[in-house]
Amino acid sequence: MNISKPRGTNDFLPPESSKILAIEQKLRELCAIYNYQEIRTPIFEDTELFVRGVGNATDIVQKEMYTFLDQGERSLTLRPENTAAACRAYIENKLYGLAQPVKLFYIGPMFRYERPQAGRFRQFHQFGLELFGSAEPAADAEIISFAWRFYQQLGIRDLNLRINSVGCPNCRAAYKRALQDYFRPHLAALCGSCRDRFERNPLRLLDCKSQHCHDIGNNAPQIYDYLCGDCSAHFAQLKTLLDAASLPYALDWRMVRGLDYYTKTAFEIEAKQIGAQSAVCGGGRYDGLIEEIGGAPTPAVGFALGIERIFTALKAQGDDIDVEQGVEVFLISHDNDCKPAAFRLCEQLRAAGFSADMEYGSKSLKAQMKAADRMQAAYTLIIGGDELLRGEAVLRNMDKSEQITLPVDNIVSHLLRIKNSSDKE
Ligand code: ATP
Ligand code: MG
Repeated sequence: MNISKPRGTNDFLPPESSKILAIEQKLRELCAIYNYQEIRTPIFEDTELFVRGVGNATDIVQKEMYTFLDQGERSLTLRPENTAAACRAYIENKLYGLAQPVKLFYIGPMFRYERPQAGRFRQFHQFGLELFGSAEPAADAEIISFAWRFYQQLGIRDLNLRINSVGCPNCRAAYKRALQDYFRPHLAALCGSCRDRFERNPLRLLDCKSQHCHDIGNNAPQIYDYLCGDCSAHFAQLKTLLDAASLPYALDWRMVRGLDYYTKTAFEIEAKQIGAQSAVCGGGRYDGLIEEIGGAPTPAVGFALGIERIFTALKAQGDDIDVEQGVEVFLISHDNDCKPAAFRLCEQLRAAGFSADMEYGSKSLKAQMKAADRMQAAYTLIIGGDELLRGEAVLRNMDKSEQITLPVDNIVSHLLRIKNSSDKE
């Protein structure tokens, strides 16, 4: 029987795996620049955390969770996202006792039982920021700036940053009623999910993916006419800050998160070249979330991005991520008698910090040369023959096709000298 990977999952093989690492490295560098530190939470959590923290009304909780009973009959769920877990950790580890704000990032696999398609998987990888303990618009602006800068630095073109405010539980009640009044006459024409949302979650009527429902909503009331003084001032200040940093946003009154603990800012970045799954990241403020899962009221804002969609976007524009490949030195030995000398040199090179590899068995010199080419070795070191008897070996610069004979004991220092002088260039 052939066993294959579960539907909607990926094996990341070299060199793709190195590209993912390069992206993760870039994200980590940016986190250092913006002063965020890493949090790592469990891959699975109490199911209740997501029911409350993501929201029972969401697609994620309704349809997309990998939920199972463990041997102690506890209901556990593979994390579909990391915000709820970060909030749980903030409460459980009393991070509210630290100087605020607490600025965290996470990176890792998430799991959602979705219909797999381009850019949409059942195991995928997210990176995200969570900023706890500040209600200030400057915190929202910083999160948006981080996301924007990251995609800019990666060279992703045709980006579209949309922002909105979804208000707060105070001002949203009147807006929900206004939306229901608007959609009520069209109820019969809406799709099944929208009819369902009408009572439960009327804000979500605005961002239905069905074109028909979308068109019906074209003239719906806009939240901007309903925001309370506090939400309105917050949104105005956010826009001022984004303008000050020349971040090119567009307002999108239809972009909603639609849960009561999402408050004020919502934003999304799209990469138009991707097509259908064009959202590369999304985020916003969730001042009610920590309280929802049992903590004291704590303002918070964050965002999450999909790592796989970065590749989709880069591919769509004909770009790729450059990663360094190849070993620095490949050791070739004339015959098995030379192996101890080759292995000793290989180890000395590794100890000195060179990437080095060797032929383990006995192959012809030609086959070993081919292997060196395949590994894109910068140098080959040929051990054996008369040279070895004289305590020497042949070092070949593969690019220049030049070779020199050196005493075996001088090889590491010779290569170190070359490396240091090229580092200084
Ligand atoms: P979508 O509308 O595409 O389903 P979402 O609103 O469910 O996105 P979020 O929960 O906000 O997405 O997750 C943030 C980001 O994670 C998305 O913008 C996307 O880049 C990525 N993402 C979400 N679901 C998947 C998935 N199943 N496969 C790959 N990436 C995903
Ligand atoms: Mg989704």
